[in-house]
Amino acid sequence: MAAAQSAGTPRIRRLSSMDASRGDLISGPTVLVPPKQLMATLGDANETAMSFERAKMHLEEATTSSEEVTPRSSSPVNAAQQAAPTDQYAFAFDIDGVLIRGGKPIPAAVEAMKVLNGENPYGIKVPYIFLTNGGGKTEEERCIDLSKQLEIEVSTGQFICGHTPMREMAERYQTVLVVGGEGEKCREVAEGYGFKDVVTPGDIIKAKQDVTPFRKLTEDEWKNSRDRDFSKIKIDAIFVFADSRDWAGDQQIILDLLMSKNGQLGTRSETFDEGPPVYFSHNDIVWSTSHEHVRIGMGALRASLETLFKAVSGKELKTTAFGKPQLGTFSFATRLLQQWRKDVYGIDKPPQTVYFVGDTPESDIQGTNAFNDSELSDCNWYSILVKTGVYQDGTIPRFPPKKCVQDVLEAVRFGMQREFVRAMKEKVSGDADEEEKKAAEAALEDEADIDD
Ligand SMILES: [Mg+2]
Repeated sequence: MAAAQSAGTPRIRRLSSMDASRGDLISGPTVLVPPKQLMATLGDANETAMSFERAKMHLEEATTSSEEVTPRSSSPVNAAQQAAPTDQYAFAFDIDGVLIRGGKPIPAAVEAMKVLNGENPYGIKVPYIFLTNGGGKTEEERCIDLSKQLEIEVSTGQFICGHTPMREMAERYQTVLVVGGEGEKCREVAEGYGFKDVVTPGDIIKAKQDVTPFRKLTEDEWKNSRDRDFSKIKIDAIFVFADSRDWAGDQQIILDLLMSKNGQLGTRSETFDEGPPVYFSHNDIVWSTSHEHVRIGMGALRASLETLFKAVSGKELKTTAFGKPQLGTFSFATRLLQQWRKDVYGIDKPPQTVYFVGDTPESDIQGTNAFNDSELSDCNWYSILVKTGVYQDGTIPRFPPKKCVQDVLEAVRFGMQREFVRAMKEKVSGDADEEEKKAAEAALEDEADIDD
């Protein structure tokens, strides 16, 4: 399964465009997640449990200092809290355009979380994780934000963002350029991942201001950027952690490095194939914000950079993207979910079905469907597309989901009802006693027909 497939020397498969075929996603050497985490055994539970605890501690600090937030754990004991967890199925959610839009929760999202946490007619709780291509903050900070927005506790043990898999690369490269995000955030994230020497575009501009003719550092940027002697520094790899705040300046610096001899600023390669590799934390061309139309994102920067490189050097540039729809990301999610179910609910087996709810056909739906069809998956991954983000009602999604619904609340209700109907049908046709069969038949009559 996933672990067996990923054993051995990590190698990287490169995708040059958003149009990854199913073959691209499945075949060939792909390591897009830390093998250590991908292959996590139950022995790693301590490490995971400790990270839950750390995050929870910080969550408690954060939530007790904010009056707007009422974590469910501190609300009065009610029926929902006593609901038993199901071991049959689970949910995984994309965030932007599904749960959050323009920094605010989509109203259906708060309700959907309540339903999963026991406020439902079936009297159960359903385990869930979050799988976003977004980033730019530490996983812990992002979980604290999400906890406030969704009025629930979100642990790092149930959260994967676009740059989470980059943690694995920390040991491979000595000095790296980290691009994107606000202020010094991404440098902090990279250092937290264990990268030893992290350079930012600000450090480079501070050392030589005519590197970017039209970009001047602000006072804060000047203060935060580090004094470095780039004549003695070799950049081994470039990581775009989060969306660039200055495309022109960042692309100029990346291009300089790509055209250099071995990542040494100020040099020029004669062959233009001696530059460092470039990694992007995901490849979404567009994403959903508070604006009425989708906005361009990191995948657009990637396309732009590849085109620019071709224009100035005449050579093809191959870059690597992590995140959805890469199958490695879904394998990682499977492991995380397994660990989460075990540590929090004591469930030590894979679910039969994972419902993945997303808004972007090219990443969420393509990835879920391809992972479900691959040999990497040990359960059914069922794709549900919502209409609250990138996908617009009335258009034809390039990658068709198994189910299309209005919003995340409808997605949750659909999945839960589908599971209930399946359980009752099994009971009716199984070896339950007559009384139980009658009860199951009656329950089925009460359920509206579902189309799955
Ligand atoms: Mg999305």
